[in-house]
Amino acid sequence: MVAAAAGWAYARFLDRQVRGRSEEEPPLSQGYLRGLNLLLDDETDKALEMFVRMIATDDEALDTHFALGSLFRRRGELDRAIRIHQNILARPDLSTAQRHSALFALGEDYLRAGLMDRAESLFRQVAEQAEDPEPALGRLVGILENLGEWEQAITVRREMEKVSGERQDVPVAHYCCELAERALTNGEPRAARGWLKKAQRARRALPRGAIIRARLAEQEGDGALAWRLLSEVVRSSPALLPEILPDLHRLAARREDLAALDALLRPLLSTADAPGVAYAAITCDLLDPPVLEEALVALLTGDDTLASLVDAPALAEASGEARRQLLERMAGGLRRLVQRGPRYRCGACGHHGQRMSWQCPDCRSWDTIRATATLPLETVLVAPPRR
Ligand SMILES: [Zn+2]
Repeated sequence: MVAAAAGWAYARFLDRQVRGRSEEEPPLSQGYLRGLNLLLDDETDKALEMFVRMIATDDEALDTHFALGSLFRRRGELDRAIRIHQNILARPDLSTAQRHSALFALGEDYLRAGLMDRAESLFRQVAEQAEDPEPALGRLVGILENLGEWEQAITVRREMEKVSGERQDVPVAHYCCELAERALTNGEPRAARGWLKKAQRARRALPRGAIIRARLAEQEGDGALAWRLLSEVVRSSPALLPEILPDLHRLAARREDLAALDALLRPLLSTADAPGVAYAAITCDLLDPPVLEEALVALLTGDDTLASLVDAPALAEASGEARRQLLERMAGGLRRLVQRGPRYRCGACGHHGQRMSWQCPDCRSWDTIRATATLPLETVLVAPPRR
């Protein structure tokens, strides 16, 4: 509480410094000093009552009350923050801008408290009325994403475009993909196709859209189209190979044409994406067609440390079934190793996780998470934490 009071007093001090009117303004009123003392004595509720009374009667700068409210919010004392902001709103002499600030601040309190409906309606109100609606639109779209209200989120993104002039095509295309996936799950392929078309209109080259469309095509018996779509994803976004290799393998196996998969992946072996092919083979538990086995062997023998760990000479000497069993055992060990470390990483904020997700749970960016394609060798050298 001492830190809280000091922070509040400092915010107030800064506020005066910035405005440079410290000499014209009266010193802290008696009421504030008493409130501050109560805060320092850990009598938070009494201090709150005093401040709330002052909001109604005191002509002091409202900024101080706002600072106090956001201080309570930052400390997680949301009931107190809400009371402060509600009492600011009850003042009859608020300017329009002050009213919008108070509504926004109250929205932030509700958001932190998990009262999404209330927060949503306040941010909507501010977005419609405020001179600068951008911050409120940003909060609103975050809430709608959380609630899975994708169609409403599309509308808000388009509003954001008008206000900021920045295109919002990537999130809009992903909202359409979310709706397409939902339609597929509900057994509505026509609706799914409609949403995929809208996704494509928002963002022409969207690997996620192609992956969903391929799944739909496969469901409808059009394996050739599914294959074409997924092949294009491999060429445009090889980092997504671990997500789609099982589908490609299934489609090729059904046509008894694993050679097509070999031909698709082989060009990657001579590029920087070669370790990604080996990684996909390891995580998807696939060593057929030969290109996958070759990528794995190149990975195992290309690095001295890894080669000594997996007994590369034994691998070089073995042939036929014995070699195959040896490779499967090595790939299995590496797969268990991969599962012990963080498998996915966000390119925007560095968030690590175990699951593939199209939206980063930390920074909320879309399409920034990909497989790490690394072997977390340190996890075998460090003892697991004791429970
Ligand atoms: Zn992120």
